[in-house]
Amino acid sequence: MSDLLIKKSSIHGKGVFVNRTFKKDEVVIVWDTSHTVSKEDISKLPEVIRKNVYLYNGNYIVPSSPGKYLNHSCDANTYARDGRDYAKRDIQKGEEITIDMSSEPILGLPMKCRCGSKNCKKVIRSNVFRC
Ligand SMILES: [Zn+2]
Repeated sequence: MSDLLIKKSSIHGKGVFVNRTFKKDEVVIVWDTSHTVSKEDISKLPEVIRKNVYLYNGNYIVPSSPGKYLNHSCDANTYARDGRDYAKRDIQKGEEITIDMSSEPILGLPMKCRCGSKNCKKVIRSNVFRC
């Protein structure tokens, strides 16, 4: 956990930052899938939590720290595979970790994007679900 830090992000709210260099294709985050919610109860969650709920192995998962602080970028430095986020390229110490939410099974899309990258799509739409 000391490899990752939660602090104020220039993208949105808080973000997850690396406290050391990660090599391309190294595992950066293992998803904590222990907090599940029934489909009926999703609508009872506060919006800020609800929008990050994702579907994994047939369960609706409420992300905990640090996953819940991950910000989206249209030019993300990680990719998701089998419940983990991997470095898409070398990530230097101090960089914010960003994920491409459009390719993860997140329920709260579409969402406005504030990533500020050159190729920003302005709205994050799901490539996984039909929203
Ligand atoms: Zn963007």
